[in-house]
Amino acid sequence: MNTKELDSLYIAKSYGRLPLEITGGKGSLCYDENGKEYIDLGSGIAVNTFGFSDPEWMAAIKEQIDKFAHTSNYYYTEPCAKLAQLLCEKTGMKKVFFSNSGGEANECAIKAARRYSFQKYGKGRHTIITLKNSFHGRTITTLSATGQDSFHTEFDPFTEGFVYAEANNLSEVKKLSEDNNCCAVMMEIVQGEGGVFVLSKEFVEGVYELCCEKDMLLIIDEVQTGNGRTGKLYGYMNYNIEPDIISTAKGLGGGLPIGATLFSEKTAEVYTPGSHGSTFGGNPVCAAGAVNIISRIDDELLAGVAERHSIIKEKLMQLENVESVDGLGLMLGIKCKKDAKEIMLACLERGVLVLTAKDKVRLLPPLNIDIDLLNKALNILSEVILQ
Ligand SMILES: *Cc1c(COP(=O)(O)O)cnc(C)c1O
Repeated sequence: MNTKELDSLYIAKSYGRLPLEITGGKGSLCYDENGKEYIDLGSGIAVNTFGFSDPEWMAAIKEQIDKFAHTSNYYYTEPCAKLAQLLCEKTGMKKVFFSNSGGEANECAIKAARRYSFQKYGKGRHTIITLKNSFHGRTITTLSATGQDSFHTEFDPFTEGFVYAEANNLSEVKKLSEDNNCCAVMMEIVQGEGGVFVLSKEFVEGVYELCCEKDMLLIIDEVQTGNGRTGKLYGYMNYNIEPDIISTAKGLGGGLPIGATLFSEKTAEVYTPGSHGSTFGGNPVCAAGAVNIISRIDDELLAGVAERHSIIKEKLMQLENVESVDGLGLMLGIKCKKDAKEIMLACLERGVLVLTAKDKVRLLPPLNIDIDLLNKALNILSEVILQ
């Protein structure tokens, strides 16, 4: 049996796979089993920060794997400590907890918010306000936090203690914060899965002020927006706010699984020995790769993200069939008159990988995608959109 046949026979049907088997990749290009070449504008959903098989990142993980791949969190390891230092120095946050995925990083953030409030105010002040159309993960609790009914079918009962406000509706957040025993607000500053929707400055900064006023913690889910994706190291840096907790994953590892939850001065001491954990959390190989990724997200790289953003926006906005191009940096959603899924499939056929989010075509290319290659992919995407 070939891979597609084995997959359909033995893998749980939770994914609607596209008809492509990837057998290799280099930078922003990848290949199928017949050697056909594809330009990747999806980065494995914002994970392959510097594309496939980035040589510097590979050298970093190979160096670590030659020493050792895993130990337990009973012991100290250098890559983990170095990564935490780098993340704190670059954000001003004070402490980091490492895990393996975005869902797990959010789970850690939610537990921390509840514990912070419990220790300060006692039992019962545990409600977390999240936004409609958000996406925070697939565990039962992070699904609870996710404000989309479509994710909630047939998985009852959920973790209680989440209420949902309309994005960009500050008065609704205020109202919810009065009616409930709220300990935190949790949001993505660009809703990714929700259709690449950018939150307004007034709203985000208004929520921040409200959180300061009421001692609610501001948790920013940077799983998709983080690690250079929006043109800043973290997406919240596009706004004038200081989060109490940041969760991130996806692009942090550059292609290996790692999640991180960052704590400010205020929340730094919430976790005490034994109060939280993760067997694989801070895996030395993943952490060594992440040190390489984070240390390369500098002003020059971010200027390149902004440049590529402009190239994409300019090119697509002039197409007659394009209604809007939303997003920040290299996290873009394109609303077309034509069906997004149809565009994705036609692009695949013609050797360009794009994603969708709700009714939009979503682009999350590697942050260092070669500009000629990007233009080549955009020409194909434009032709598909116009067809
Ligand atoms: C992808 C994503 C998650 C979930 O991350 P996993 O690694 O799949 O658990 C959570 N929040 C946001 C904003 C995401 O984009």
